[in-house]
Amino acid sequence: MQRTKIIDLLRSEEIGLKVRVMGWVRTRRGNKNIAFIALNDGSTIHHLQIVAELEKFDEETIKRITTGCALQVEGRLVESPAKGQPVELAAEKIEILGEANPESYPLQKKGHSLEFLRSIAHLRPRTNTFGAVLRIRHALAFAIHKFFNDKGFVYVNTPIITATDAEGAGEMFRVTTLDINHPPRKPDGGVDFSKDFFGRETNLTVSGQLEAELVALALSQVYTFGPTFRAENSNTPRHLAEFWMIEPEMAFYDINENMDLAEEFLKYLISYTLEHCMDDLKFLNRMCDEDLINRLENVVQSKFERLTYTEAMTILESSGLKFEFPLGWGNDLQAEHERYLVEKHFGRPVILTDYPKNIKAFYMKQNHDGKTVRAMDVLFPRIGEIIGGSQREENLEALLDRIHELGMNEKELWWYIDSRRFGTVPHSGFGLGFERLVQFVTGMSNIRDVIPFPRTPQNAEF
Ligand code: ATP
Ligand code: MN
Repeated sequence: MQRTKIIDLLRSEEIGLKVRVMGWVRTRRGNKNIAFIALNDGSTIHHLQIVAELEKFDEETIKRITTGCALQVEGRLVESPAKGQPVELAAEKIEILGEANPESYPLQKKGHSLEFLRSIAHLRPRTNTFGAVLRIRHALAFAIHKFFNDKGFVYVNTPIITATDAEGAGEMFRVTTLDINHPPRKPDGGVDFSKDFFGRETNLTVSGQLEAELVALALSQVYTFGPTFRAENSNTPRHLAEFWMIEPEMAFYDINENMDLAEEFLKYLISYTLEHCMDDLKFLNRMCDEDLINRLENVVQSKFERLTYTEAMTILESSGLKFEFPLGWGNDLQAEHERYLVEKHFGRPVILTDYPKNIKAFYMKQNHDGKTVRAMDVLFPRIGEIIGGSQREENLEALLDRIHELGMNEKELWWYIDSRRFGTVPHSGFGLGFERLVQFVTGMSNIRDVIPFPRTPQNAEF
């Protein structure tokens, strides 16, 4: 007999059907005549109740059924007298596939703290909360591909090992096969990277954008969805050292069309989960964050507020509030500023444009004022920046001027600069941090709790 998934059983409600299920025990309770076993197989947040009449089974087997152990059960679906579940399984045959010793299995009681669960990340997918988060994460990944595919975008894979620092922030992990204790040296004493694997210095990518631009300047509309790495020592609830980024890049788009796409994209993704993940969202809403579903619906329904960085700075300065990080034109906005604008001032998502060029990357299109660039950051409640994007500088001279002004090495970027030499067109794109999106949709307050095995400073366990 084939295995049936619990989600399908709970949906079918076919009374009398003989089935086989497999899963992990969440709880076992009962009395001297009967045992009730809550079984979960990860296909849904809901458990299947297994009812075992003790006279049909030997006592030893029943005793070994403890929280966390894996079972295979055959039986018939019957109507359930209990509230909240249409059917239960009257067990006829129970096989224990893997035991979980109650003395040492750490997930005994309910309500472990999220901090504790992080220390047992190898087991936390077995909790209701992480099951819900991981199913929603999957649904979002699928919806991202669906959104772009339906619009005719092409999915491209950009390199993970690169020799460029796309963001110019210098927060990169080095990739090398040199013996770090005895590296080959140049006459001046510096490390001779010409002897390294690639014959040059390489690192893990911080963004696939530069390469995505090259492909967009041929296929018009493309997107990446891959891992990115930042060696920034920011121990915050919104930063990971390894995270996933979605980077659409569109030829013939100006910054306004870029903003329109970003807004439509985010609303589509949130609507998709409201439509397809309601069981998990309801669970999270009940257990972790009672305003979650309300907040998601609000964002889908609201028009994002659009204003310039300069206007936002004026609003912040006239708020009269004392922030931890200083205000002032030219300073980068911190999460506390972003959240004030979104949560207190406007009460909906905000898109800020035209940032000072000195706090943004070299590739952004320069405005005529000589001070600002056509950047656009999308700011969300509780998250702050969820998307960072811009119209790109497509003019060869302007791009070269900026590269020189920043003292960057023009020679290393020859291939990128070439794209402005041949058939250059206005184009735009943005980067969405996948984990920040999952954080927003699940309501989890720490980004470490929306990726199965987080990488953060001082932590690469599992
Ligand atoms: P922040 O100011 O929050 O550090 P950023 O300006 O460095 O963000 P970008 O370089 O524009 O971010 O990257 C694009 C998107 O990637 C961000 O809007 C955010 O959603 C996400 N992101 C950036 N850094 C991280 C990180 N360390 N961990 C998780 N997501 C990140
Ligand atoms: Mn950053």
